Amino acid sequence: MFTKDKLYGILGLARSGEAAAYKILELGGKAFLSDYSSQDKVTNADKLQADFDCEFGGHTDKLLKCDEWIVSPGIPLDAPIIKAGLAAGIPMISEIEFGYQIKATDSKIIAVTGSNGKSTTASLIYHILTGLGKKAILAGNIGDAFCVYPIEKPGIEYIVLEISSFQLDLIKSFRPNVAVLLNITPDHLNRYLSFEHYAMSKLSIFEHMLAEDTAILNFDDVQTRSRDKIIKAPITYFTGGDKVSGVSAWNDGVFLNFEDTSQLSIYDIGIRGPHNSMNAMASVLAVNAVINDLPRVIAATKGFKALQHRLEYVATVNGVAFYNDSKATNTDSVKFALLSFDKPIRVMMGGSDKGEDFGCITDLLSRHASKVYITGDTVDKMRQSWLGKVPLTCIDDFDKCLRSAFEESMAGDVIVLSPGCASFDRFKNFEHRGRHFKELVQTIKREHEKD
Ligand code: ADP
Repeated sequence: MFTKDKLYGILGLARSGEAAAYKILELGGKAFLSDYSSQDKVTNADKLQADFDCEFGGHTDKLLKCDEWIVSPGIPLDAPIIKAGLAAGIPMISEIEFGYQIKATDSKIIAVTGSNGKSTTASLIYHILTGLGKKAILAGNIGDAFCVYPIEKPGIEYIVLEISSFQLDLIKSFRPNVAVLLNITPDHLNRYLSFEHYAMSKLSIFEHMLAEDTAILNFDDVQTRSRDKIIKAPITYFTGGDKVSGVSAWNDGVFLNFEDTSQLSIYDIGIRGPHNSMNAMASVLAVNAVINDLPRVIAATKGFKALQHRLEYVATVNGVAFYNDSKATNTDSVKFALLSFDKPIRVMMGGSDKGEDFGCITDLLSRHASKVYITGDTVDKMRQSWLGKVPLTCIDDFDKCLRSAFEESMAGDVIVLSPGCASFDRFKNFEHRGRHFKELVQTIKREHEKD
């Protein structure tokens, strides 16, 4: 728990570390800040140095003298400094845990995790709550860090948190009132020892929840369902398919059904594809767990729009429609992009490798992609996975690759950037890659409008 005399060590000075440091200062506490990167690589380093005792370019023994560490989600738990801290017996928490420890008791937390769909679902939950006139914030892995907000003061009715597995790795008491686990599919396997470790990291969101809380789970996700015995909170299930015993929400192909009493047309959701129908069901159930008025909750979902870089419609040029799904950084999200159109699409893939076996989507690609355009660092690995099974074009240069897809298209075709990989081979992040894609589409559009 927070006390003013405790010296906090802040490890990693990105957005959440910075937010935790300033919150400690605001609360009258003490913090020592430490980052492995040199000062010129840390955003706001000068300001941080003016306000705190800091070190850059490595960690010294000073850090080992702190009473507790708040560790950035970007720091691998097998990093030498973490091992040194553990050997010295220093307690370590994440910024999410710290925020939970200091938040006002009247704020309820709705937390969302999963391999895919977190941002969309957390944003939709926030959209519904604010549409219902509730005082809510949206934080965590989306927008601003948890500690940026005045969470220690009463008055925020709902805190909607998007939480990655990295942020869950160092929770100690974090107990949301409602937690949604959307799915557990292979991702970040380069950080975890095994898939089991990754799955258990996701499930730890439920660890401290009790009988008066609510867990919202995906019935179709075998990885989650096979482990649900460890959850103590009551479980509400949704399914992307037909009604089955034990589920509270299901999809009959036209309507999302809730508890046999209420319906939402899939055409009213404003986000396309079977995955987004699941996100919408999870969102409605999560909000209803605290509001308990299905018709009003359903009505408040309307007007929600796809977030940027998630199957975002960009433009149509000569009858060819372009979609930006740059946030699709693993094969499961590519799978749902493929299933979101009623005919085969031209899909542009590739980027930096996260350790996945691309063979798991070969069948889907052969049925739902008219051609795959591969670019970036994974060209060789993807080519080896799909050669002879799926029509392929491999072009290392991103722009040439997209232009080639367009040149081969006919009116009525759809081109989707759904990389199935991280973006760090050529871009700063997925937003940078998505923006670049959209700008190039607009350039292609201008070139063709001139013609
Ligand atoms: P996250 O925050 O978990 O990365 P996003 O909402 O940003 O999730 O979506 C990331 C990618 O996953 C996008 O390509 C999106 O179309 C896809 N996606 C969204 N929801 C789901 C889901 N429930 N299952 C699988 N893929 C999804």
